[in-house]
Amino acid sequence: MKLQAKTTLLTVSLSGAMIVLLITVSLVSFRYFSLSTAKDHVRSAAEIVRVSLTEAMINGVINQRSQFLERLSEVDGLLVARVIRGPHVVSQFGEGLEKEKVANSIEKEVLVTGKPHFLMVEGDTGPTFKGTIPFVATNVGTPNCLECHAVKNGEVLGAITIHLSMTRLKEEALITISIMFVIVLVFASFFTFFFRMQVSPVVQTAQGVSNVVAQAKDGDFSGRIDYRGSDEMGLIAKDLNQLMEHLQNNLGTISQDVAILMRYELKGNTNLITTTTEMVETLLEVSQFKQAVEEDQTIQEVYTRIGYMLTENFGIKHFSIYEVSSDKEYIKPVIVDGEMEATCKWCDPEILLQADSCRAQRTGHVIDSIDNELICGKFKHDSSIDEPVGHLCIPTFHSGVVGSVIQIIIPREHGRLYQNLLPFIRVFLRESAATVETKRLLDTLRETTLRDALTGLHNRRFLEEYLETLLATTKRKEQRLSVLLMDLDHFKEVNDTHGHDVGDLVLKSLAALFSSQVRNSDLVIRFGGEEFLVILQESEDYSGRHLAEKIRQAVEKLVIKIPGGELHKTISIGVGGYPSDGDDLWDVIKAADLALYEAKRAGRNRVEVYTNKLQDLEKL
Ligand code: GH3
Ligand code: MG
Ligand code: MG
Repeated sequence: MKLQAKTTLLTVSLSGAMIVLLITVSLVSFRYFSLSTAKDHVRSAAEIVRVSLTEAMINGVINQRSQFLERLSEVDGLLVARVIRGPHVVSQFGEGLEKEKVANSIEKEVLVTGKPHFLMVEGDTGPTFKGTIPFVATNVGTPNCLECHAVKNGEVLGAITIHLSMTRLKEEALITISIMFVIVLVFASFFTFFFRMQVSPVVQTAQGVSNVVAQAKDGDFSGRIDYRGSDEMGLIAKDLNQLMEHLQNNLGTISQDVAILMRYELKGNTNLITTTTEMVETLLEVSQFKQAVEEDQTIQEVYTRIGYMLTENFGIKHFSIYEVSSDKEYIKPVIVDGEMEATCKWCDPEILLQADSCRAQRTGHVIDSIDNELICGKFKHDSSIDEPVGHLCIPTFHSGVVGSVIQIIIPREHGRLYQNLLPFIRVFLRESAATVETKRLLDTLRETTLRDALTGLHNRRFLEEYLETLLATTKRKEQRLSVLLMDLDHFKEVNDTHGHDVGDLVLKSLAALFSSQVRNSDLVIRFGGEEFLVILQESEDYSGRHLAEKIRQAVEKLVIKIPGGELHKTISIGVGGYPSDGDDLWDVIKAADLALYEAKRAGRNRVEVYTNKLQDLEKL
């Protein structure tokens, strides 16, 4: 209950209680007073009757007593005055008048006990006080009762019943009480008014404090208390107003600054406290995230971290991270639903070949299907998910152009929530974008140093870097390797006859052929000028010798289109094996080289497998 209502209720209750108490006390007092007055009146009247009857007896006019009693009844307020003859008088003087007979049990009892009886009744004529007073014989005075009555001292001669009307007394009591009620009511009203006036500043300030604090809890510090008094309440109001102003100015500035950092748009009804706290917490997490990303070794680790951030910080289970190629020709998914190098799941694979068909990539805007369900025709709903979902595709920029697109898939029912979370997600992506870009550049750079520019195959440097890892893995898994060293036959002639450019063309065609002949797990390396190396894992159904023969035949059949005609070339291949031909892969390559030499020597367009005999030949 509000304080204002409480104080009003208190004063009204107090006043009401006071009025009820006063009226009750007055009523009880009046009743007591009226009864004792009525008793006195009845006693006085009884005494007058007794004296009058005695006088009448002395004067011998007792027979005229009924006239006297009737006249007495005419006295205002005296309704009944009736004498009752007791048994002693009846036996001495006879029955007397009819109306002097005992009329009820009360009169009978009074005649027996000699004690008066009083009763207040509410009759048809209003309230009536009924009293029956006994006349008791006494020997005191001259003449006394015993001189005329044949009774003993103390015996009851008779009684008198008197009925007094209390109507007027009651009316007067009611008028008096009404006046008192009005006076008390006026006083109580003044009291209530005065009390409320005194309590009003407290109530006003308390209500003000309550409203202002409630507003502040919702992050709105614009509330103020209106009370301007100079008392303690005024001081409280003033201090609280100053505090709110302080918070509004300072927290408002902090919020705006943090919002600028976050590129978050503060709305009019934003809760400054919770929003600022969330923003600061996010900035802290972002700073830790940024540092972790910078310390990650590979771009794959960075992408995994971004995926982890989406899942852990924002509860996003389904998402894709697409990398846009630097020439914007194609895009490729690098992580899908947390899996590295997964296939495109949430988009039409067409976007992979045509980067511009990705709307987020093309426009550089966030693509939001929550508000506009059909915004992107390339979005694909994965059938493994039953609930209706939407997507938010967020482009991130590398040196001003879209470098990657983060696509998050969210249940439509949570769409609004994620729209609100978008600024928070974007700040993570923005802060990691520079590192992603640098790492991608470094990767590209590193890749170019490890690849041969002419054929696109890995180069000898790559082999040098990779060989140790390859050997360690092979040893651990107890596998066997085959090394194919391949050298084109009479390649010099091509250069000499058709020129160096045609020579290059032939090398490119052969490189493509080699890649098409081997398995994905095999390594094809441009080892030297027109020498190539293939390293493969030996298995029951896949041996170096067979692959070498397959390649040799494929080269033999290959028709190389050159300007103004076509060319046919052959190749010689030496095959070495690990661990059979050496503990070190370089030794195995050397063995393959010896076998190649033997193939050349034996007439070219051949495959020669290394044997110990070749080593003996070398020694010669
Ligand atoms: P053989 O059958 O004995 O191998 O005869 P060959 O003519 O192929 O002899 P060799 O392997 O010694 O010749 C290597 C030639 O390959 C020398 C060089 O002109 C040519 N060559 C090496 N690298 C390149 C290249 O990048 N482009 C072109 N066009 N030619 C290259
Ligand atoms: Mg050569
Ligand atoms: Mg050659």
